[in-house]
Amino acid sequence: MNKPPKILVADDDETALDVLREALTLAGYQVVTARTGDETLRVARSERPDLILLDILMPGQNGFEVCRLLKGDPNAGYLPILLVTALADTEDRIRGFSRGADGYLQKPFDITEVEARIRNHLQVKEQHDLLQETTNRLRDLAVTDSLTGLYNRRHLLERLAYEFLRARRYGTQLAVSLIDIDEFKNVNDSFGHLVGDFVLKEASDLFKAAIRETDIIARYGGEEFVIVMPAIDAQGAPLRSTNAPDWILEAGERVRAKLEAHSFKNGEVEVRITASVGIAAFPFHPAEEAIDLLQLADEALYVAKRAGRNRVVLWSRPGK
Ligand code: GH3
Ligand code: MG
Ligand code: MG
Repeated sequence: MNKPPKILVADDDETALDVLREALTLAGYQVVTARTGDETLRVARSERPDLILLDILMPGQNGFEVCRLLKGDPNAGYLPILLVTALADTEDRIRGFSRGADGYLQKPFDITEVEARIRNHLQVKEQHDLLQETTNRLRDLAVTDSLTGLYNRRHLLERLAYEFLRARRYGTQLAVSLIDIDEFKNVNDSFGHLVGDFVLKEASDLFKAAIRETDIIARYGGEEFVIVMPAIDAQGAPLRSTNAPDWILEAGERVRAKLEAHSFKNGEVEVRITASVGIAAFPFHPAEEAIDLLQLADEALYVAKRAGRNRVVLWSRPGK
């Protein structure tokens, strides 16, 4: 069963607080309380209530101000706030609505009306949260590769384009690794496609654990992965030098070695794989735009495959 909704009652008047707390607890809600404006803000953040009954006249920041602050928090999601007041004039009501209040409750309370209003607003909130959840899920799906949970190719290309612009504008470094599992067809042929899928998934987890938080990893296609590695001029290498700094090759080597050392166990089956890695890096290699970096990394990958696989190759001008 779902937890009962949590309601924050904010009022400096103990009697009003008691009446509401008792009635709402009886009606099955969780109730938390606050007695000043500051306390209301604090409790709202720590307790994450589903709805707030907010007295207008309180010590410290008044209800209008508290309402404005809570409604202005972009991370809060939808949080219904009902202003509670003995003041009844239209001007005050308008003032409250302009600060984002969702409604008013008039003192003295008619408790059945209070409960009915709360039910209505909680229903709206539930719909809103559901919609938000669906939106988030769809957004995740749109950028995720379903087998591995890594970013998909489309998202990779977007992020790479963005990181490339940033690197160019701020004069920072950007390396792109293209990883291709060696002879992966053999894994499928020997153990079946399901084991192949399992290996791809577990290899993805390995890669993910081997990169930095600011790196972006994606499944580029079948058994190909891309790691985008932005870096603040880590080694102080001169821009436009053609020698990429060591960290770039080392980052690729780390991933390669990790894969080679790993044993993929699926039931009785044990699989070992290796990968070849091609790397290109801005501003060391001739890339005018993001996609050029991928192209150069692909050329380096081809060289790695030709040279016998299970190795990392940094792009260099052909013939050199
Ligand atoms: P190379 O060392 O030259 O890269 O050899 P390879 O066999 O890895 O390369 P090739 O491109 O010939 O074959 C890639 C294989 O990857 C073929 C395909 O069946 C397999 N593959 C691609 N996507 C998936 C997937 O989602 N699941 C499984 N199980 N296999 C996949
Ligand atoms: Mg391939
Ligand atoms: Mg391959």
